[in-house]
Amino acid sequence: MDIDLEIFSPVQPISNPLFDAHGVKVFLKRDDLIHPMISGNKWRKLKYLLKTAQSQGKNHLVTFGGAYSNHLLATAAAAARFGFKATGIVRGEEVNNDTLFLCKLHGMQLIFTDRDSYRDKAALFNQYFGDDNDAFFIDEGGASPEGALGCSELLDELTETYDHIFCACGTGTTAAGIINGLSKHQLKTRFNAVPVFKNGSFIRDEINRFLTTPADYHLHTDYHFGGYGKADAELVRFIKEFVAASGVVIEPVYTGKMMYALYDLIGKGHFEPGSRILAIHSGGIWGLLGMKDKF
Ligand SMILES: *Cc1c(COP(=O)(O)O)cnc(C)c1O
Repeated sequence: MDIDLEIFSPVQPISNPLFDAHGVKVFLKRDDLIHPMISGNKWRKLKYLLKTAQSQGKNHLVTFGGAYSNHLLATAAAAARFGFKATGIVRGEEVNNDTLFLCKLHGMQLIFTDRDSYRDKAALFNQYFGDDNDAFFIDEGGASPEGALGCSELLDELTETYDHIFCACGTGTTAAGIINGLSKHQLKTRFNAVPVFKNGSFIRDEINRFLTTPADYHLHTDYHFGGYGKADAELVRFIKEFVAASGVVIEPVYTGKMMYALYDLIGKGHFEPGSRILAIHSGGIWGLLGMKDKF
């Protein structure tokens, strides 16, 4: 089977009096529209991993994630779509939630593991699937050179140029892919990564290990709202206002923090008047399901 999805990810302008006041134009790259389950950057990261698995004759995807992982769900759905078996090794004690329900709906087997064992993914893979010739290891979040390659294709789809690109950053694979795409197309666009973790400057090493050529970019490390999966009333208020004003759903784990950072920096006059800014909607709206109690 040919492993590919037809990419539907239009670039759409969004408006806000704040943008007019600062003379900037903001656009959204709607990767969230690529697929309802294999959402956004998760499809881009999986594409070449699945092709590699297929070319090695391996039909069982084994991967890792937290109990609300967009990557687990995307892998489950992609496996179902392209005829693979899938196992998700989940961090923490056995739970049931909306995300894991959707993983199981797509036929993914789940193995729960304590937080200590979870740290050594290679050991877990060997423990459970060391003698399974069909098993194919996919790192947490799809972090890999193949993942970065898939993400770099986002740049091939752009028909206009931008002064800045903004993207939320977890493993840094998506950021690296986009930066590689900018280098490949010899664009002067500044890349802006918004890490969603506390002390996010470590992400520079993670991004750099997937770069095809060294590159300069911005890290905005002040928009983690207390850490991964954390949100405060201010972020929730921003997200509600954004969704109600635009009809585009964002969530508190990734895209909400990225958009908050962008609006905050615009308000602080960080961008020259006339700047054109592209924000990547990297998908993941099911992340909302784990945070309903904050709204
Ligand atoms: C997983 C995810 C990210 C993080 O991507 P990385 O490549 O791990 O940095 C960003 N946004 C959304 C919506 C995600 O689900």
